[in-house]
Amino acid sequence: MAASVYFWNLSSSRRVPYDRRLRRLLKDSRYASFLQPGDLVALKVHFGEKGSSGFIGPRLLKPVVDFFRKAGAKPFLTDTNTLYIGQRGETVSHALQAAEHGFDPLLLGAPVVIADGLKSNHEVSVKGPGRHFEHCYLAGDILDADSLVNISHVTGHDLTGFAGALKNMGMGCATRKGKMQQHCGLGPRLDPAKCRSCGDCIEVCGGGSLWLDEEGKVNLDRASCTGCAACLLACRQGALGVDFEVELPVFMERMVEYAGAVLSAFTRPVLHLNYLLHITSGCDCSGGSNGPFCPDLGVLASLDPVALDQASLDLVNLAPGQASVLPAGWQPGADKFAALHPSAEAAYCFEYARKLGLGSREYRLIPV
Ligand code: SF4
Ligand code: SF4
Repeated sequence: MAASVYFWNLSSSRRVPYDRRLRRLLKDSRYASFLQPGDLVALKVHFGEKGSSGFIGPRLLKPVVDFFRKAGAKPFLTDTNTLYIGQRGETVSHALQAAEHGFDPLLLGAPVVIADGLKSNHEVSVKGPGRHFEHCYLAGDILDADSLVNISHVTGHDLTGFAGALKNMGMGCATRKGKMQQHCGLGPRLDPAKCRSCGDCIEVCGGGSLWLDEEGKVNLDRASCTGCAACLLACRQGALGVDFEVELPVFMERMVEYAGAVLSAFTRPVLHLNYLLHITSGCDCSGGSNGPFCPDLGVLASLDPVALDQASLDLVNLAPGQASVLPAGWQPGADKFAALHPSAEAAYCFEYARKLGLGSREYRLIPV
């Protein structure tokens, strides 16, 4: 059955103030009927890696916060710590990065809560819905919330071709251990040239999978490694990194299964918002300031993350392309995400999500 996807089309309503249009979008989604006064509502966002200019900033999120406050709920802005060690690898740096990007609780009316704890150990295990995982490891403070609103900035992505609701939920609600499971699950990649034999990684390795040999070199036993990723954070030399050696379809299936685990953890429906603004080739983890490859289109809302992502991809592909950003050889009308990331087929995620029962690829676009 076709799912309802509500669309604030920027080009058809330039004269209507943004906050009024967003309020209308949220009202039309009828999500307020699921809320109770005093509910703690997790607004899952991305605060932007240091140096990123494309993330969905506080000004664009304020009407969403206001909407939920007016409904009597207590919204908070949230994300989880990253697997790679950048400015969002642990909670202290992550919260400071959010503040640097303007996420001020006093101005927004909602605090920033990094949902997986100081070093990403605050996790809840949820049964996996597919063939890859018995347990999925999700951020404790997201699962403790009464409701989840999954707010995504639509972009391209090296590993999934397209990044939207499924990715923001599947990867973005996972703890570091959960992210590691999706990316590799085989333990870290070791760069012996950078190792100083300090032993810090060995101290945090609960599985006893790391040890120093007689020559002072670190060794890894992949068979006993649980993929907790604690060693990545412990190594200050950058000698331990993410082992990205995984086939893309397998990675995509794992990510979608994590998205399914998130949905299954909530008794109420999850609302998904996709922002089709400043649509860049890479996601907001890249820490760069890429130019957009198509015009700003607006914001979409749906209770169905698969339909929402499918509709977002279709709208971007129908829009004109920015030839100076798209690869040479891209022809108007051709799939922009496929041109940017030829090795990753975005539709593979959507189809796997549909098969798992996460939603429908058929949708009805409803303008607001
Ligand atoms: S990922 Fe966890 S279990 Fe594996 S080597 Fe690192 S600290 Fe040890
Ligand atoms: S923490 Fe890093 S530098 Fe220290 S022993 Fe482990 S891998 Fe080597």
